[in-house]
Amino acid sequence: MILRHHEYLRSLRRVRWAAFVLLLLGLPAGNAQQNAGFRLISWSPLRLESGSPVLFRVELSRPADEVHGTWLDYSLVFTKAHEGDTWYALAGIDVEQAPGTFALELSATGPNGREVHTIKQVVVLPGRYKTTMLHVEEKYVEPDAATLQRIAADKVVKDAAFAHQISQPLWAGSFRSPVPFSPTDSFGTRRMFNGKLASIHRGTDFHAPSGTPVVAANDGEVVIAQGMFYEGNMVVIDHGQQFTTMYMHLSKIEVKVGDRVSKGERLGLSGATGRVTGPHLHLGVRWQGVYVDPVVLLGLPLPKR
Ligand SMILES: [Zn+2]
Repeated sequence: MILRHHEYLRSLRRVRWAAFVLLLLGLPAGNAQQNAGFRLISWSPLRLESGSPVLFRVELSRPADEVHGTWLDYSLVFTKAHEGDTWYALAGIDVEQAPGTFALELSATGPNGREVHTIKQVVVLPGRYKTTMLHVEEKYVEPDAATLQRIAADKVVKDAAFAHQISQPLWAGSFRSPVPFSPTDSFGTRRMFNGKLASIHRGTDFHAPSGTPVVAANDGEVVIAQGMFYEGNMVVIDHGQQFTTMYMHLSKIEVKVGDRVSKGERLGLSGATGRVTGPHLHLGVRWQGVYVDPVVLLGLPLPKR
């Protein structure tokens, strides 16, 4: 028994020695070695639920040229922070995403072209959303043929705008409220229109009286500035990497497609155009195909770049 135990220790030492040599040669030696490039993976907010925006942050143990990731089937391109080997990416979890544990897959490419990979399991909790009944004009519930054509034309404009590619984030620091009024607790609400049509409210309503100046929540490029059937007069700003904010039901639009806007710059005036029950500002936040809670985004501390 003693001899066999001794043999075992010796073979264990040999295995350890082989692993050490492989490490020196820079060859992969199991999972621990593959993860060596990632020092810390974190996110905020800490508690993630369906409908949360999320800032992923990755600290590397050595410099990298590129950091990429995959999250809920969407690709992430990380941006390097000013100092250290910290990288971040702004992403989201759709309001209709079922809760569960999901893999955040990461890869970093070093200056020598060598890639390191890791996978982090991230828990998504269920969102807590209510149901409400609303009454709007009948044309918004059962649109006629001409209106259906208009809705289809609006969709073409939106699809083109959302496919717009800006490779780098244009936002800097936290997002700010577009109007000086408190938001309502309306994101994610399951809504019945005239007792018939059910839909999910994919944004937050601010009780802004008509004529309130509406400002950009962050730096970006205007990708939509026109009237739409449901949204009314709408401005959409692309903040880079398909992270967009949408401002709906405006009485007046003061920007045009292609304009670069800064955080706090005026986009127009709030109003009651499109499918509304009264004057308000609807703010939507969309990342790739995902709609997230604007109120959570407005409270999220973000790097200045
Ligand atoms: Zn709304």
